[in-house]
Amino acid sequence: MSEEYREIAYWAVVQELEPAADIPLTRLRDALPEFLRNCGDPRKAGGVLFACLSEIPWQWPAWDSFAKKTGHESLSTINLAVSRMRPNEVLKAASLTQLRRLCGERNVIHLSRATKLALVDALLKDTSAEVAAAIVLPFRQLLQREKNDKCRQEMARHMAYRILSVAHARERFDQLSDRELLSVMRFWKFHWCGHTDIDAPKSCRRFDQRKLERQEASVVFPALPCSYLRCTCWISAERAGASR
Ligand SMILES: [Zn+2]
Repeated sequence: MSEEYREIAYWAVVQELEPAADIPLTRLRDALPEFLRNCGDPRKAGGVLFACLSEIPWQWPAWDSFAKKTGHESLSTINLAVSRMRPNEVLKAASLTQLRRLCGERNVIHLSRATKLALVDALLKDTSAEVAAAIVLPFRQLLQREKNDKCRQEMARHMAYRILSVAHARERFDQLSDRELLSVMRFWKFHWCGHTDIDAPKSCRRFDQRKLERQEASVVFPALPCSYLRCTCWISAERAGASR
């Protein structure tokens, strides 16, 4: 695949990032060469994107509905879940070292071999709800940051994957639209990759194996890749015969 398609796809996908005003174009531009070098491996390429956007509260709106359907976490579900955690749950997520340090700061006496659970109990024993909330606040924020980072890493990996499939689909579309090819193969046939996305108005599944004349196909078939983030459905050129 030519680099040109990958570059166009890169910009098509990263422009969906929000909040747009907080995403510096220069950083995205600087990261592009390394992204392109690694884009055969979505994990590495995603890592390049993730690093390039570090310290920015970015989000990819396309991720939310995808995450809901596929059981992934999204920033909003994470933040809601963390905000609802009880103080003892927040502290249990901290490390033993962190809890020991906190005991030291708060002059809470504990055995040197005390378990995490014992330390959490000792820290929260006889504290009012307000005090408990204040004690756990930094831990809650830390937990939220860690979980958000993990989620963004996953989002970045899927963005890299998406960029590659957008590039593939565009290049293929141009190849299929070639005049010479069309003079011999006037039909396009749709191939569904197997994903389900029942919410999409034009679900790829409904078009599987449909063969239409190019003109009609370019209007009727879903634009690829479809809104499902891992869509790898594809179209082939065919000689003759419309089958529905
Ligand atoms: Zn699809």
